[in-house]
Amino acid sequence: MIMLKQVKKWFNKRITLIFAPGEGSRSFQVRVSYPFITFLILTTIGIFVAGAYMSDIYANYLYAVKKNKKLVTQNSDYSQQIETSLDMISNVKKIEVQLRGLLGMRTARNIVEKYPMGGAFSEDSELFSSDFNSIDQQSRFNSNVAEIKRESWEQNQSLNNIKGFINRKKDVLLSTPSIWPVFGYITSGYGWRTHPISGRKEYHKALDIYNMLGSGTPIRATARGRIVLAGWAGSYGKVIIVSHGNGFSTRYAHISQFAVKQGSHVEQGQIIGYVGSTGNSTGPHLHYEVRYRGKPVNPMRFVKGR
Ligand SMILES: [Zn+2]
Repeated sequence: MIMLKQVKKWFNKRITLIFAPGEGSRSFQVRVSYPFITFLILTTIGIFVAGAYMSDIYANYLYAVKKNKKLVTQNSDYSQQIETSLDMISNVKKIEVQLRGLLGMRTARNIVEKYPMGGAFSEDSELFSSDFNSIDQQSRFNSNVAEIKRESWEQNQSLNNIKGFINRKKDVLLSTPSIWPVFGYITSGYGWRTHPISGRKEYHKALDIYNMLGSGTPIRATARGRIVLAGWAGSYGKVIIVSHGNGFSTRYAHISQFAVKQGSHVEQGQIIGYVGSTGNSTGPHLHYEVRYRGKPVNPMRFVKGR
């Protein structure tokens, strides 16, 4: 009961506000109730709070607009970069085709494993979808990204295939007698000649190479392989026979000293012995033979231009 009385009293309370506009004007007063003044104060606070809240929303909106503009610019930038990447990939593809042509390889179509298709790109669509203002642009973007992924995958496979091909070629090249065993003059080439000792016409199935250093000039294996003979063999004198695989073997005759043992493996360019004049020879030189499937062939076919 006491509470109710106090509230009633508060409601009936009045406050007198005196307005004094200044000199020359009459001052006036207004009597207002406590509840009214409370209402006025609360309303003012409410308006301020609402205003602050609204201005915050507006600031956020402005920020969103600005960000969106930036994203749109960024997107078109990305799209352009993707177009450039596609151009570059298509250039790489052209070079790859040319490379295959130069190497006499088959086209990649039969060799390259296709990129695994299916749900692979769903994550991308989700990733990019929210930032796009049109479905068209988005789907184009996605398909371009997918194409870059697929093309890069295929290029990667194709280049690995080319690398393997070159490695196999390199292996064949290293196993093919393709370098000079010694540097010097060819004193007797491959073909018909009059034998310097017997004076008879004969078919010389080798190159005779003379080096100014004479005896002791290092002889190098012209391809990698295995020493199948390092010993004496009649008119050859001291001779080394190297088997290279792929049907090739080489013979190095009249040598003075061995640098390798029979049965050992040699690399292309490795020193295997030294020039001499052992066996049927008129002076220090290397008698160098290349055989393919057991038959002598002209060594110049392999060393020319090297
Ligand atoms: Zn000879």
